[in-house]
Amino acid sequence: MSPTRSTRPSAASRPKASPRPKAKPKKRKRAKPNPSIAWARRLARYRPGLLGDTLDRLSELYGAQVWQRRLDPTSELILTILTQSTADINAEKAFVALRAAYPSDLAPEHHEPGVGWGGDGLPDGAPPDWTAVEAAPLAELMSVIRPAGIATQKAPRIQATLRKIREERGDHSLEFLGEMAPLAARDWLTSIPGIGKKTASVLLLFCFDQPLMPVDRHVERVSKRIGLLPAKAPADRAHDHFLAMLADTPERTYETHVLLIHHGRAICQARGPKHELCPIRDRCRFVDPKAP
Ligand code: SF4
Repeated sequence: MSPTRSTRPSAASRPKASPRPKAKPKKRKRAKPNPSIAWARRLARYRPGLLGDTLDRLSELYGAQVWQRRLDPTSELILTILTQSTADINAEKAFVALRAAYPSDLAPEHHEPGVGWGGDGLPDGAPPDWTAVEAAPLAELMSVIRPAGIATQKAPRIQATLRKIREERGDHSLEFLGEMAPLAARDWLTSIPGIGKKTASVLLLFCFDQPLMPVDRHVERVSKRIGLLPAKAPADRAHDHFLAMLADTPERTYETHVLLIHHGRAICQARGPKHELCPIRDRCRFVDPKAP
């Protein structure tokens, strides 16, 4: 049997395929710069040493700030919720009322308020029984925490927070957050409705010395006046601007928060800031728009 002959033309006799037009090289899309990193670089370039100078001068005035755990983390979180939109002193009254209405047999806790705290500091006392707070009738809880204001929002927020912690962790302890990476811990907390970056950062900074910067109204005002933050930076983004600015010195996060908040209360108040007493005035853009 003769071998089957191929009907395909040989390679030599096949017509040459016309060369494909070269594909235009694709334009590489530039990754969008992280606005917080971009801001920190800009500040370092055009106003070098601004944050370090500010902290050094405020430390001279108010004393060096050394981190100390302020309170048990669950108490800290609930106290911070109570401080939302009110003065710290009112939150203290509501927290003391919580202890009295829902007593526990836990060991007494000591409050280390530090210079950034606007109240008198809590008296020593056992934390509230969180299980009883979570299960309390809503109207009753609202009445207990009334000194802190907007109880209609805060009472359900406190109960939802305690419920979420217990459902996910089996009890109300938040000590596990100290074992997590700072941003992962912040994400865990901000997944609870009503807990924003500020409240989460307060807890993680004051209970675990994690380098997360809470930006409250005092920190925001002072920072924007000096020029540490862009004038129009939304408060939510300001937290991350500070993380970028403190990337090389995360150990200064605690003093940054405490000193700026204290300066905002003592000298750089919203109305009538006392520029003449301020050690940063030669670098402050509020008094000199061309300050270095
Ligand atoms: S100079 Fe005035 S505006 Fe600037 S930080 Fe000091 S008190 Fe505030």
